[in-house]
Amino acid sequence: MILPNIIAIDGPAASGKSTLGRRLADALGYLFFDTGVMYRAVTWAALQRGLDISDEAAITALAEAIVIDIRPPSQPDGRACDVLADGLDATWGTRAPEVDANVSPVSAYAGVRRALSLQQRRIGLRGRVVMVGRDIGTVILPEADLKVYLDASAEVRSRRRFDEVIARGEKADYERILAGVCNRDQIDSTRAVAPLRPAEDAVIVDSDKMDADQVFQYVEALCRK
Ligand code: C5P
Repeated sequence: MILPNIIAIDGPAASGKSTLGRRLADALGYLFFDTGVMYRAVTWAALQRGLDISDEAAITALAEAIVIDIRPPSQPDGRACDVLADGLDATWGTRAPEVDANVSPVSAYAGVRRALSLQQRRIGLRGRVVMVGRDIGTVILPEADLKVYLDASAEVRSRRRFDEVIARGEKADYERILAGVCNRDQIDSTRAVAPLRPAEDAVIVDSDKMDADQVFQYVEALCRK
């Protein structure tokens, strides 16, 4: 049996791409690479430095200069990996609400995408990889052997995100999460460069009525076909 060497998983915010991607990579013994982390690290660093998010030139210069690294987890605090931005631990910072609110405008800048895409493609072409994002099957790795577009309604995705935050013991406001998810969908799917959309040869998986186990089993079966 020949397994797909490069697996691309795309889809909107909170559709379960990372959960699926990580499980699939573990099952196949592949590298799991969540490209959203890179856009989040640039956004986190920009906020840390007090840059104006609407200043495209400054944000692009930052994306071109910053060194983003993903390492095995250094602390047992629930993190799947360490995210380092210029050597600083940005792991939880990249998940902060301010980053959620600002990451889509940052990732709409052509220069930011150019800088990060080059690195993503270089890593992906090594193969034995599950790469997760918005434009992996369409732009970064159009030669991927299996492309999955994981979708779900904004309401279902927001409910899942709400449950995750509550499970961590934090406070959450469903209506706010829903508004944020819809705003990110709108920016991600209408931007001029690499908008969110399924590749023509992607398998579209609608997870509205499927739980994480069912999605995983379905996609794992696709890999082993
Ligand atoms: O997947 P995640 O929600 O962590 O991604 C954060 C943001 O990064 C997305 O809302 C999107 O704006 C951007 N992104 C992107 N292209 C990718 C991955 C993420 O534009 N390949």
